[in-house]
Amino acid sequence: MTDNKKSNNKKPKFSPYWIYAGIIAIFLVVNILGGSSFNETNPTTPSQFMSYLRDGDIEKVEIVNRREAKVYLTKEAEQKDIHKKSKPTTFLPTASQLPNYKFEFGDLQNFEDDMAQIVNSENLDPKPKIEYKTEQNLWGDFLIGLLPFILLIGVWIFIMRRMSGGGGGGAGGQIFNIGKSKAKLFDQNTEVKTSFKDVAGLEGAKEEVQEIVDFLKNPEKYTSLGGKIPKGALLVGPPGTGKTLLAKAVAGEAKVPFFSLSGSDFVEMFVGVGASRVRDLFKQAKEKSPAIIFIDEIDAIGRARGKNAMSGSNDERENTLNQLLTEMDGFGTNTNVIVLAATNRADILDKALMRAGRFDRQIFVDLPDVRERKEIFEVHLRPLKKSKNLDIDFLSKQTPGFSGADIANVCNEAALIAARQGKKEVDKQDFLDAVDRIVGGLEKKNKIITPDEKKAVAYHEAGHATVSWMLEHAAPLVKVTIVPRGRSLGAAWYLPEERLIVRPEQMLDEMCAALGGRAAEKVIFNKISTGALSDLEKVTKQARAMVTIYGLSNKVGNLTYYDSSGQSEYGFTKPYSEKTAELIDKEISDIIEEQYQRAVNLLEANKDKLTQLAEVLLEKEVIFKDNLEKIFGERLFKTNEVIAKQIDVVKDEEE
Ligand code: ADP
Repeated sequence: MTDNKKSNNKKPKFSPYWIYAGIIAIFLVVNILGGSSFNETNPTTPSQFMSYLRDGDIEKVEIVNRREAKVYLTKEAEQKDIHKKSKPTTFLPTASQLPNYKFEFGDLQNFEDDMAQIVNSENLDPKPKIEYKTEQNLWGDFLIGLLPFILLIGVWIFIMRRMSGGGGGGAGGQIFNIGKSKAKLFDQNTEVKTSFKDVAGLEGAKEEVQEIVDFLKNPEKYTSLGGKIPKGALLVGPPGTGKTLLAKAVAGEAKVPFFSLSGSDFVEMFVGVGASRVRDLFKQAKEKSPAIIFIDEIDAIGRARGKNAMSGSNDERENTLNQLLTEMDGFGTNTNVIVLAATNRADILDKALMRAGRFDRQIFVDLPDVRERKEIFEVHLRPLKKSKNLDIDFLSKQTPGFSGADIANVCNEAALIAARQGKKEVDKQDFLDAVDRIVGGLEKKNKIITPDEKKAVAYHEAGHATVSWMLEHAAPLVKVTIVPRGRSLGAAWYLPEERLIVRPEQMLDEMCAALGGRAAEKVIFNKISTGALSDLEKVTKQARAMVTIYGLSNKVGNLTYYDSSGQSEYGFTKPYSEKTAELIDKEISDIIEEQYQRAVNLLEANKDKLTQLAEVLLEKEVIFKDNLEKIFGERLFKTNEVIAKQIDVVKDEEE
């Protein structure tokens, strides 16, 4: 915790145990003063008492609270053998005489009558005295009187302890701590095992964050020339690319206090809590400066502020954001607090947050390329027992479009698959199975498929393969399978080109290949089926994007209805007229139908080859590029060289 908390600890602290001790002390004192429970009076029974009475042993009977009789013996009687034990014992000196016996008699009237009868018949002289007394149970009354106070004090202590954040951890769960930041603090005392070594690839990003650590460690080096230390850096990139990992490595290497929390930690169901947590976070960080604050998933609070006054529901988030904005630009450059944040949606962040002076730097963390994938594989293969001749190059080529998290997952899956088969080491096939599994889902060997369905699936997949083989821009095929996996019955896998810009003809070719499955069903069986759902979904989305986002349609023109600020997500109104809506719908449908027709025509012309391919597929269940080459001959269109090489690798390995 903070320093001032530590110094508090040195003072003798008020402890609730003092109260318990006090209560026990009061109990003792009352007992001693009351004294009653230290005297033990011998119990007896009414009939015995009557016999003592007949013997003339009784000097006095004290009737207490009309319920109990206390019996005092005469001096002579006390000497008798039977009364030897009746001498009252006491630890304390008392002034008055103590009773020898006590008993409860039941009904007072009967008891008096019985006594009078005995006294008369025995002619006792002197007659035993009868006294009436009312005794109060002081102790019981006192306790009952005290009870409410004890309860009140107990509740008060409970609340005080909660308010002072007693109990250390779990600060957030307590109502009085709700405004406290929930950030986890890593400093010299906490061991963070992640270091920059564990982050593969991402050279540029690593350099940038390393520089930030350096800023904090040697600020003079930078400020001596008049420069200012940046206040924040935003890590932007798709999920699973290692943004959090990078921040963890900073925490491990920076050797300065590192506060880590997620954007959603600011969110609570109470109003004003977010802003107060931001304040608290920065206060703590400033106390410990130089320090780093890391906010993961900052889009939870950093989303652009709405412009219309109608939506009041986002006020709380906006307050939080405003507080963050003021805190980031509110402290002087010499406070040495740097804010790192990560998001995969930089486009929806508020512009004020991104301006220089707040997040001065944006560090892009992109999906890894072949070389980086290899490095990531190396990191994650380290703890595995792998076979000696495992080719990491091959693995990295087999995983285009995989993020760091996916690769970590592949390695883990491969190890699990190998273990399941009782292998001693993880080999190449396990990795390939793991890739298949991650891309396609679990293999369902025992899924019940009728021969007809299987045939339809085979032709469907062969259709994809054939069309993509024939089209210039379609992605080159890696493998086609009709083994059901996850929710799909079959799949054709491609190695997509890693393109930075996409041309309309490339998009159209891809759509045509995607429609190849349904087209094949139509051409061969003259029937279509529901099996093309995911193809249709993909194609429809792509066509809509062409028309409404990228402005690639001639009829709609160079327009886009994309809103990078992310505010239209809540809008119910379309940014175009009904007429344009009709035009857009028409364009989308035209594009798709045209590509479908193109696929049908292609397949009609190559019906025999399509059938051949489907037969091979039905027989082998999995086919690769070379099976296609046998049927179709060399592919006409040379794919770009890198990819061609990758495919060769696949081929070599499979033979
Ligand atoms: P995000 O970008 O979504 O924050 P993470 O940093 O949480 O992604 O990455 C998730 C996991 O993926 C990490 O724990 C790590 O195992 C793996 N990973 C991602 N990128 C890399 C990388 N460059 N090097 C090594 N492992 C990585």
